Amino acid sequence: MKPTLKRGSRGEDVKDLQKRLALLPDGIFGPLTEEAVKQFQSAHGLSADGIVGPKTWTALVPTLASASKTSRFVDEIIIHYTATPQGEEFSNAQIKASHLARGFSDIGYHYVIGLDGEIRPGRPEAIAGAHCTGHNSRSVGVCYVGGCPPRSVKGWQNIGRDTRTEAQKKALLSLIRELKGRYPGATVHGHNEFANKPCPGFNACKEYADL
Ligand SMILES: [Zn+2]
Repeated sequence: MKPTLKRGSRGEDVKDLQKRLALLPDGIFGPLTEEAVKQFQSAHGLSADGIVGPKTWTALVPTLASASKTSRFVDEIIIHYTATPQGEEFSNAQIKASHLARGFSDIGYHYVIGLDGEIRPGRPEAIAGAHCTGHNSRSVGVCYVGGCPPRSVKGWQNIGRDTRTEAQKKALLSLIRELKGRYPGATVHGHNEFANKPCPGFNACKEYADL
């Protein structure tokens, strides 16, 4: 008999739960785990309270075999920027450090596009990301480096805009095409569609509507 788990629970049973939900198994039941539990519950006709009791455990049992597969259900590709100054490179290690500081257990994005168009893998695609509240379980998170004016602009931190280099635009296009091939029917969105923030500084839904 599995114990009831909820926000704040820790340990091996939480890891087991996280593996079944294709989450990073860090053994800590935080907001991302809660979000994934609620989505699982509503998808399975359970009351979406975020608490893993006997009914939710029962529904989770058959998912262990499928959780070992390398894919999870994805129907959204969500675009972000790093919110760093235009023209300045920002490494995956730097992104990871800032995400750890915010309480995540790893880099939140699945891919980061460097200024020169390099596509840098972040979190494995088979594991849900940490980049867009309410959409993490069902999406792949892609982030380009930039999004703010150069450091010389006063208050650059508070301004969000499209700073993509030509190389980044090209790389984004090819990565999104590849992802859409892997996840047929997935739609492309900007973070700004789901949160009150300017990220990624352009209308991603419109720009990639015809891909
Ligand atoms: Zn974002």
